[in-house]
Amino acid sequence: MPNKKPILIFDFDDVLVDVTRGFLRFYKQKQGLEAEYEKIETDLALLLNITEDEELRLWDRFFESEEYLSILPHSQALKTLEKLREKFDLIILTNRVDRFRQSAIKWIERHLPGYFSKVLFSVDFPEGKQSKGAICAELAVELLVDDEPKNILSCVDHNIPVVIYDCPWNRKLHRDIPRIKSLEEIEEIFLLK
Ligand SMILES: [Mg+2]
Repeated sequence: MPNKKPILIFDFDDVLVDVTRGFLRFYKQKQGLEAEYEKIETDLALLLNITEDEELRLWDRFFESEEYLSILPHSQALKTLEKLREKFDLIILTNRVDRFRQSAIKWIERHLPGYFSKVLFSVDFPEGKQSKGAICAELAVELLVDDEPKNILSCVDHNIPVVIYDCPWNRKLHRDIPRIKSLEEIEEIFLLK
């Protein structure tokens, strides 16, 4: 049996695909809804002055749109993933709920075919064990890259090494956790440069 490669896990939204910027662009064009990306902390609906149900419906429409499907991954990120996959088993782990599952798979098939060995959805794990920290502990991963404070903190709780993908909504995390602004910076963590 060949040695198994160590596992690196990537969050999907706002780490591999710039969905929030894409969403804001889409609704500025279509409906004149405007919110400043840099001001997003926790509640996008509040910033857009709409209800949470309305926000959910807007995400539904956005994820069905060609504008969403045509968001490109960063070209440098592809080069980094190319290097990483030689040494690591790359997996995507997302909290996306069922209604948004197919649109994630479609985007990955279009833009990142073959880079990841699996796409995991946290909702598929047993109830009570769906936090990213619990899932990463179960899979004995080397590292998680994520932007959501709750996911990052759940990894800290489970002693899983985690890197914060810098976004306006995670800048209040003052813990001593490495922070990157592009996937390329992971190469430095693993000394691949
Ligand atoms: Mg995310």
